[in-house]
Amino acid sequence: MNEQTLFHKIRDKQIPSSIVYEDDEVMAFKDIHPKAPTHLLFIAKKDTDFVPSIDDLNEATAHVPGLLIRKAQAFAKAHGISGYQLKFHVGKGGGQEVFYLHLHFLSEQKIEA
Ligand code: 5GP
Repeated sequence: MNEQTLFHKIRDKQIPSSIVYEDDEVMAFKDIHPKAPTHLLFIAKKDTDFVPSIDDLNEATAHVPGLLIRKAQAFAKAHGISGYQLKFHVGKGGGQEVFYLHLHFLSEQKIEA
């Protein structure tokens, strides 16, 4: 069984978070230490989509970054956000702290959620 990370607990709602978007595949919640007026984290929810880091992608999980980017794009469109940054921190040397693949979504534009 995979080690349970902080984001597993957020995904499973054992730890509260400000969820701004959720469907069967993906959840997005506000970063607790925002680095922009809007700073969200997108994660894939399915256990079969779990991967610790970009560095660990394999054939079975190669679609996950694209899934997160597609959902972030749809979220931006739905909220009228025209400019934003998408980032993956990769490995400790890349600033990654939580080893549950997540996409940072940052924008100077604020969302209402
Ligand atoms: P990383 O550096 O691993 O790419 O990003 C992890 C992010 O998770 C950081 O930006 C950090 O602020 C955020 N974070 C850490 N703990 C919590 C938490 O308990 N709740 C939420 N919503 N975000 C967290």
